[in-house]
Amino acid sequence: MRATLGDVRVVVLLGCLAILNVPPDAISPAAPDVIFHNGVVLTMETSRPRAEAVAILRDRITAVGDDEDVVPLASRTTRLIDLRGRTVMPGFIDSHAHWIGDGEMVGYLPEQAIDAALRRGWTSINEQFVDDERLSRLRALDREGALRLRVNAYLPVNYEDDKFGGWYLGLEPRRSYSPHLRLAGIKLFLDHDWGTTFHWDQAELNRYVLVAHRNGWQVSAHAVSAEAHDQYLTAVAEALTAHPNADARHRVEHVVQLRDDQLARMRSLGLVASIQPGLPGDSLREIGFPELVARGETRWIARWRDLVDSGVRTIGSTDMPWLVLVLGGHATALPHGSPLEAVHQAVTRQSYLGRAPEDWQLAQRLTVEQALRLFTIDAAHGTFEEDVKGSLAPGKYADLVVLSDNPLSADLLAVEVLATVVGGRIEHCAERVKDANMCS
Ligand SMILES: [Zn+2]
Repeated sequence: MRATLGDVRVVVLLGCLAILNVPPDAISPAAPDVIFHNGVVLTMETSRPRAEAVAILRDRITAVGDDEDVVPLASRTTRLIDLRGRTVMPGFIDSHAHWIGDGEMVGYLPEQAIDAALRRGWTSINEQFVDDERLSRLRALDREGALRLRVNAYLPVNYEDDKFGGWYLGLEPRRSYSPHLRLAGIKLFLDHDWGTTFHWDQAELNRYVLVAHRNGWQVSAHAVSAEAHDQYLTAVAEALTAHPNADARHRVEHVVQLRDDQLARMRSLGLVASIQPGLPGDSLREIGFPELVARGETRWIARWRDLVDSGVRTIGSTDMPWLVLVLGGHATALPHGSPLEAVHQAVTRQSYLGRAPEDWQLAQRLTVEQALRLFTIDAAHGTFEEDVKGSLAPGKYADLVVLSDNPLSADLLAVEVLATVVGGRIEHCAERVKDANMCS
């Protein structure tokens, strides 16, 4: 339904042109519906990091380049949107969150959670605890057209000591119900309360991971402590030995405490590190956290820079709404839960409550360029979707954001998301540009 608008317009226009006696071949069938031009386009493509214009046909990008190459692709039906020097980037991907599943914790009904995410520039979210009941609800939202962004579902197989068995095995790994809802993987919890409680014995974990792996499922595992990482690395290594797969991309969620040998092992097993740049933040004061730190070396904690520099594929997220709960009644205020705040946390290591970072955290800061990858192209790799998401390139989904300023040079927390586009549809438009040509 979404894809047919363009066709209707072309048909109508062809009718008009026939009356005006203009030859129909004056319109190329591939003419874009929309061209954004005169902007700073950060493509997140290494071969062409900067451009000025993006052309969109239906739900896909058809061209990215300089104005002089892209603007002439316009036909009479193409809407030209003058960015006036504003920045366009790929839509952001929140790789680990509970926007919809746990949104009620901060007062969001599902539609409000979706709206809040879009307002912040998220075009894809990975929902990390989608059980059978939540999956039914997501499918219903999708059928109603209310899933205005793209959701990757991770299906839990345990919560604390509660094991849910192989309920997910009746489902098909990486199945897309629609372009907006997809089964991405399974989720398991290895430890809890900052690594003071453990939920698996090694043999049981090995079996679970092997069954999921053998059936084609990506495994995503909550691991905070070094002990939990040991358990998971062992289980993944066994599964990969039994069923070799050079591109399994099993994920570790949180990766809070990691020794050097574990970091090297993560790289050699091809594991993906799924981090929240806001950690440990104010958690440093929580019960259990100082004890976790004391069990090892301080430099093992939240090694975001070491992970990225060592070539472990690293993806970023907010874990909304869990981490913002420290903010109390302000949890849903901007910029909280936004990609720009998360990038700011990665480059400053400041906490949600403004807690100043310690020296060992400062040593683990990322650059803005590195941090932006966590929420775009690398995040797309995290769900095997780098062919359709995460950068601005022909053939990919037209998922993008228009920003008030360039995050590479501006004050990150002052950058405003002016528009959020999902599959070529403008799903969010800031008040102050509503009257401009941007969104009308
Ligand atoms: Zn979570």
